[in-house]
Amino acid sequence: DAVAAAVAIRQLPDTLINQIAAGEVVERPASVVKELVENALDAGARRVDIDLEEGGVRLIRIRDDGGGIPAEDLPLAVSRHATSKIASLDDLEGVVTLGFRGEALPSIASVSRFALMSRHAAAAHGASLEIEGGRLGEVMPKPHPQGTTVEVRDLFFNVPARRKFLKAERTELGHIEEWLRQLALARPDVELRVSHNGKPSRRWKGEGNLLSEVRLHEALGEEFANHVLRIDHSAAGLRLHGWIAQPVYNRASADQQYLYVNGRAVRDRSVAHAVKQAYADVLFHGRQPAYVLFLELDPRRVDVNVHPAKHEVRFRDARLIHDFVYRTLHEALAETRAGSAPMPFS
Ligand code: ADP
Ligand code: MG
Repeated sequence: DAVAAAVAIRQLPDTLINQIAAGEVVERPASVVKELVENALDAGARRVDIDLEEGGVRLIRIRDDGGGIPAEDLPLAVSRHATSKIASLDDLEGVVTLGFRGEALPSIASVSRFALMSRHAAAAHGASLEIEGGRLGEVMPKPHPQGTTVEVRDLFFNVPARRKFLKAERTELGHIEEWLRQLALARPDVELRVSHNGKPSRRWKGEGNLLSEVRLHEALGEEFANHVLRIDHSAAGLRLHGWIAQPVYNRASADQQYLYVNGRAVRDRSVAHAVKQAYADVLFHGRQPAYVLFLELDPRRVDVNVHPAKHEVRFRDARLIHDFVYRTLHEALAETRAGSAPMPFS
């Protein structure tokens, strides 16, 4: 009976708590790369080196030249709910950094062989800390240039159920490359160097400019870059800028649709719908527009704490934003509409 079946309630050990959180934050190597590169960007890095082996499953090593972490803070950096990015609910509501949950490092460290090495801008020496499957080592002195290196080996070595779901090296590498493309589009001012299995595989040169058409071209190809309309419109405390493709350049799938809200890559149904509507009478039925759009607004008007992986946001005034995006793009597309007869629907 129910009474006999009842078992004692117990507090779970930290490592298990972190492994449970990792289930939400760390889906595959690409999620690790995303979290670590975002940390590098939050730390003010100008250059990030990303070394991968076997699609990131064997090794992910991310090195940045950002502000670094003081040696005495290394254990804190890998403990749960420890963050330097917010200190209060008020900070959370106005958050401008990519991270704020203090979850990524402990989660990743609980499902890998993990090492954190850093030298803080104000420190004379570097230090390192190793963790294996959540078991914390000692902070050791270690030479390191200013900035931080995180090494993640053998992802999911201690979580066979997760490891089983990893795909072929090519596939995992493809996911990582897509994430990096997404980050690279938003931050052309930062240099990203990628190597795979010991060979340089991609270099995103720093463009020193936040609106780089060079990077647009590199990320999405010549065809896209040759058929863009430049967008930049502000109203009601909202700004929408970036590039949308002319209707003649369109896609079979939604594979070139990039939306950033205050610099964070997100998926948003309402904004995607607004874009689709703006294109409704200039695209063949079933074809998809291509775009790279940056929406900027007061961080207090958008809740970024919706999901642990931070892929989604919630707008306080979603309707207003939908209409702003629709009108801005509809207007921008007006000339393509006037120049030619509406395209037939198939
Ligand atoms: P969050 O990014 O949400 O704060 P993380 O677990 O990703 O949580 O990181 C925890 C803390 O460790 C960060 O708040 C930051 O202080 C520090 N940290 C992590 N990565 C870096 C880095 N590359 N450079 C400097 N500090 C870092
Ligand atoms: Mg983080």
